[in-house]
Amino acid sequence: MLPLPLQGLIDFIGLRWRFAYLRGERLQRYRAAAVARILELAVERSAFYRELYAGRDLRDVRSLPTIDKARMMKAFDRLNTAGLKLDEAMAFALAAERDKNYRGYWRDRYVVGLSSGTSGARGLYLTDRAISQRLPFAFLARSGMPWRLLPFRIAFFLRIFNQGFADINGPLIALRYMPTMLSLDDAIERINELRANVLMGPPSMLRLLARERTRITAPIGILVSYAEVLEEHERVMLERVFGVRVVEIYQASEGLIACPCSAGRLHINEDLMFVELLDEHGRELETTGQPCRRMLVTNLYNEVQPLIRYELNDLVALGPPCECGSAFRVIAKVIGRDDDILYFPRSDGTLGHVFPDVVSRWIITASEHIDEYMVEQSSPGQLVVALELAANDEAEDVKALVMQSMQRGLAEHGLAALSMEFRVGPVTRGNGKYKRFRRGFPPPQAG
Ligand SMILES: [Zn+2]
Repeated sequence: MLPLPLQGLIDFIGLRWRFAYLRGERLQRYRAAAVARILELAVERSAFYRELYAGRDLRDVRSLPTIDKARMMKAFDRLNTAGLKLDEAMAFALAAERDKNYRGYWRDRYVVGLSSGTSGARGLYLTDRAISQRLPFAFLARSGMPWRLLPFRIAFFLRIFNQGFADINGPLIALRYMPTMLSLDDAIERINELRANVLMGPPSMLRLLARERTRITAPIGILVSYAEVLEEHERVMLERVFGVRVVEIYQASEGLIACPCSAGRLHINEDLMFVELLDEHGRELETTGQPCRRMLVTNLYNEVQPLIRYELNDLVALGPPCECGSAFRVIAKVIGRDDDILYFPRSDGTLGHVFPDVVSRWIITASEHIDEYMVEQSSPGQLVVALELAANDEAEDVKALVMQSMQRGLAEHGLAALSMEFRVGPVTRGNGKYKRFRRGFPPPQAG
């Protein structure tokens, strides 16, 4: 095996080259070969996939059965290719989380990532140390970071527990991993100590730091947002407060799905992940601007825990080709999770859906006094909106404006709310992944 810095450099060059030049038939061939390689490996080393694909034509990947988190977790022991046991990996992950000790590898070799999961089901993700150590170079090669920020000094806030990342200290890059559970004082101290010029974290963390902007003395040159949906008004706010560009990385527990280019658009990492976006007919989504109905990902680099045609419940919409010239598909917007969609009755009694980004627009454009908000829906048509305001003496006005804006928006969609309740006060954010939209019932059959 090559020494890490050299391997990292080779990765970096390859990642840059493929992003800029791989296109058309060559891209198809590259991807097909990578998919074939992971399929072959899975069938050879994983009892789960061997059975799942028995009698199937592996050359036709789009005909193979799909899996999801529940299926993956249930088959954990037989799905992974290293004979690892779920209860042992879980015990390790939980102990590390309990002791807040995020150092060291499981069995000296594996990174164990535990995802909280909004639907309650926890996911456990394994990555080989050799691969996880190379991932920061992928971040760097694909983050669209300007060279003028060299040497990069990165404060990287990790949302999910992940003990395998080791800080990096090199001539061109210094990287410190920080848990989002750090107290704000500690976080700011560490950012300043590092003199970080790159601040990387989930939007909920960046938002907290934005409130303490004046205490951050580090020469921040760019913000990188990942792990949660970054809404447009947040991007605008963060760019205003920090006076720098905000770029987005689309990273899931399942893999590094998309990264920003120098023009700031989000491109699918076609060489690292095979991403299938399907429309309502189960066909490859080709139109731009419309959210997909299903999203399947195949991780092309994780050999310990192969994830093949694995369904995420994220909703994304494609954008037009990018001016940067890369042929990698552009994600116009990560709209949210499937469980963020809200449902309202039409006049004929059937239910229609509204995407969270639309509702969010109705709320934030209603008044400039809204600092934060959260929407809960426990049954179709019913709504509780929590509003955190800059000044509470405006509360009644703001409530009325939001109510009007929501009703107008719904009416334009041919929908109506049955009840709308408002709460004004601090919006509690909890410790885990912050969610603005919460739906307490399963999606209706039609909509
Ligand atoms: Zn681009």
